[in-house]
Amino acid sequence: MRKPFVAGNWKMNGSRASINTLVSGILEGMSRVNNAEVVVCPSFVYISEVADLLEGSAVNYGSQDVAKEESGAYTGEISVSMLKDIACKYAIVGHSERRALYGDTDKIVAEKFVAAQNGGVTPILCVGEVLEERESGQTEAVVERQLQAIIDLAGINALGKSVIAYEPVWAIGTGKTASPEQAQAVHSFIRQWMSKEDGAVAEKVQILYGGSVKAANAKELFSQADIDGGLIGGASLAAEEFISICEAAG
Ligand code: PEP
Repeated sequence: MRKPFVAGNWKMNGSRASINTLVSGILEGMSRVNNAEVVVCPSFVYISEVADLLEGSAVNYGSQDVAKEESGAYTGEISVSMLKDIACKYAIVGHSERRALYGDTDKIVAEKFVAAQNGGVTPILCVGEVLEERESGQTEAVVERQLQAIIDLAGINALGKSVIAYEPVWAIGTGKTASPEQAQAVHSFIRQWMSKEDGAVAEKVQILYGGSVKAANAKELFSQADIDGGLIGGASLAAEEFISICEAAG
């Protein structure tokens, strides 16, 4: 049985004041969440502060990215050892905004994935197609290519030790959610595709859906057989909405 998992990607939002309010609200609401693992991913600047606020709670935290390099002359980058130093449990890698705006190719994403995992931080690997690719029937090929890059560099067992987030790019921040059937079809494809390499790994890996998840659509999405929770952007910035989504996950 896979544990439900909900992660909030706060992106480049928040201030010390707003983050304090948001974390208080999440902590207050946690009594409504039964079983789901709940993770928040603040901007790098605020991770330590969020870590302090979350101390002793069941909520975990992660980063929104990680450098592929270990240390050295990489101005502006954050290494996995730094994340580990502040006890980050997770790092998002390959978010579509990083892929589209900051040149994160499949190869770079795979290198970041490996850096995170080797440094003891669990990658939350984002995959997903843009609208044009969906409309031309390439969704499965795109997702396969993105996952294959990880397997090529790290192997199926490494992929199995991550959390995968299927995020159709056309659904991110647009209010256009994939229907539960559309999402389930891709999640099921990912699991079947992985099972060709290793059935046990495919059965065990958590696959999240991301793309305009809200309290109003979470339950139906999360009730699909291969959807194990969500990666939440906009709706993770409001405590009540985020907690309702976590509640829907279990
Ligand atoms: C995301 O950025 O990962 C995301 C899913 O965003 P949103 O929920 O706002 O669509």
